Amino acid sequence: MKKGILIVISGFSGAGKGTVLKELLTKHGDCYAVSISATTRDMREGEQEGVNYFYKTQETFEQMIAEDAFIEYAQYCGRYYGTPKKYVYEQIEAGKDVILEIEVQGALKVKEKFPDTPILFLTPPSAQELQRRLLGRGRESEEEIARRLKQAEVEAAYMPQYDFVVVNDVVEECAEELHELITKLHTASAARSELIQNIQRELQELNQ
Ligand code: 5GP
Repeated sequence: MKKGILIVISGFSGAGKGTVLKELLTKHGDCYAVSISATTRDMREGEQEGVNYFYKTQETFEQMIAEDAFIEYAQYCGRYYGTPKKYVYEQIEAGKDVILEIEVQGALKVKEKFPDTPILFLTPPSAQELQRRLLGRGRESEEEIARRLKQAEVEAAYMPQYDFVVVNDVVEECAEELHELITKLHTASAARSELIQNIQRELQELNQ
């Protein structure tokens, strides 16, 4: 069986990452596994341990850092977030393409560690639309929305470092675009590995 690949998706708070990923999994769930991160932030209403995150104390999280249990970790709004290695590696071995939905610092760390990993940035079509979506969720206070828009400006500075910028206008179309893109990347990665293996083997045989 061919191995899966790792894919990183980042995006502004309010870009619709969660909704697009849900749609992608509904339509093409057999191709993907979404990594569940560990965090020291508090559990929000409606969230569940082991579904949205693995909720850790700062002490446990730091213990996990010391044990080298993370592919990457970063601090965001004063809390730790990290991608545990085990599940990701198991799923890749099982042939699944594993999606990491992580913020910009973590994304760039993954790129540094595994340069072949495609990093994708999901964005609404405009800043006005981002603001409209944040207001429309009715979840955050005006102050919190202003803070997230400021944070978005900081994150936008990292957009040029991403391999792909994907616009989330219509959710279904965006999920389909993501699926097509990831499928192409998966195929290209498999073809590359096969070519390298073949050339290495042939050279060994030639030189015997
Ligand atoms: P939230 O607290 O809203 O769930 O997530 C805040 C930010 O942390 C989001 O941008 C999310 O993508 C990011 N995040 C979630 N898990 C991880 C992780 O394992 N590593 C990193 N670097 N960022 C993460």
